[in-house]
Amino acid sequence: MKAHDGMYIDGAWRPASGPDVIEVVNPADEQVIAEVPAGTAADVDAAVTAARAALAGWAATPPAERSARLAALRDVLAARKDEIAETVTAELGSPLPFSQAVHASVPIAVAGSYAELAASHAFEEKVGNSTVYQEPVGVVGAITPWNYPLHQIVAKVAPALAAGCTVVLKPAEDTPLTAQLFAEAVHEAGVPAGVFNLVTGRGPVAGQALAEHSGVDLVSFTGSTAVGRRIGAAAGAAVKRVALELGGKSANVILPSADLARAVNVGVANVMGNSGQTCSAWTRMLVHTDQYDEAVELAAAAAAKYGDRIGPVVNAAQRERVRGYIDKGVAEGARIVAGGSEVPRDRGYFVSPTVFADVTPDMAVAQEEIFGPVLTILRYEDEDDAVRIANGTVYGLAGAVWAGDAEEAAAFARRLDTGQVDINGGRFNPLAPFGGYKQSGVGRELGAHGLAEYLQTKSLQF
Ligand code: NAD
Repeated sequence: MKAHDGMYIDGAWRPASGPDVIEVVNPADEQVIAEVPAGTAADVDAAVTAARAALAGWAATPPAERSARLAALRDVLAARKDEIAETVTAELGSPLPFSQAVHASVPIAVAGSYAELAASHAFEEKVGNSTVYQEPVGVVGAITPWNYPLHQIVAKVAPALAAGCTVVLKPAEDTPLTAQLFAEAVHEAGVPAGVFNLVTGRGPVAGQALAEHSGVDLVSFTGSTAVGRRIGAAAGAAVKRVALELGGKSANVILPSADLARAVNVGVANVMGNSGQTCSAWTRMLVHTDQYDEAVELAAAAAAKYGDRIGPVVNAAQRERVRGYIDKGVAEGARIVAGGSEVPRDRGYFVSPTVFADVTPDMAVAQEEIFGPVLTILRYEDEDDAVRIANGTVYGLAGAVWAGDAEEAAAFARRLDTGQVDINGGRFNPLAPFGGYKQSGVGRELGAHGLAEYLQTKSLQF
């Protein structure tokens, strides 16, 4: 695959400061498909310097012009949609139809939403005898994971640019090619030099240097809770703004009045999509005790149908982690009704779509984020019991509720300690705020709430 051997800094591809490289591997066949430079603190420093130099000009650029650049970015992404999907498939391993329908399409919608928000947002308001201005926070250090490689980038960079911030992006080690393609798109869209910069590299080197750089005003991080905690601590010590989008262990609560077959089938698809590597996946299905056996049967059948259609997980370490959790579930007394930890293919980092029945709330497979195609099914006795189980983890990112009517489901959803809930299979909304309660994170992405993360207020009194 095509790869740049430098960093995108100050509007051009520049040689990396050191010789270290990261090999990019196709998880479906374990072949090395490209290599990209592994950035150092010196690369990060050059990128932050460029972002800071560009800040005053971009912050002063009228919102209508920032909107025009974002609209151009959306159009470039749309024009290069097929290339994006192929690149994501090559480095993440997701099946091409999923890459087209989700990995390539969602970021186009999100970029478009920020083109509109930049033009329509009130960056200035009158409050009594004051005028309140919403001004960009400054230089943003964006650190992203591999599971939705382009979406995670666009969900940070588009609102940051709409707000008038400048950005240095450090994408995940496993998916740097999508990030390079995004940098090309930013360039093609006519975004001025220095407003967006890309440093590929490893988390503990380039990522840490970016998170701790004194020239960064806001760190926006999506990834694991373990790394997020460290980044949050460093930002706190530096009195620096921070947004953290972390892990999840979301509940899919099926109330007795729901269409059980639909709720189970959509629930299984939600977990198996992207090979289970979705932070907001509904990995705990909660079913009333009277409907439990039927739900387990339906889920096992739905998971078995996935069989060969599921893609690999991202790398060998992730595969071993997921298999380890499956073995742990068995050791804890859960019952496998589909899949298992046996490796299904000779090549590629595949894991069989797996469903656990007889899961109790305290088991590790019901508490910890597995990040693979593994569904756990738990039983509840009544609604209060369901609320207790659903809220009984350290996470609170997303969830689903199914009932005979939307009102009943919505009333239940209001009792969940979580940032986003889909009611009876509600559709994805690129304008709805996304982010976590509890240890799932701090801050929100998408829509107007996502834009607000990159703004700070100044009031003038008259
Ligand atoms: P990770 O935390 O290992 O890595 C995420 C990013 O942080 C990568 O770019 C990595 O290079 C970088 N990083 C690693 N160590 C660092 C350090 N010491 N300093 C600075 N940066 C560092 O997570 P991952 O394995 O790439 O992604 C999976 C995790 O991300 C899962 O836990 C998942 O739930 C979470 N996630 C959350 C959301 C959300 O919106 N809440 C979305 C996607 C993924």
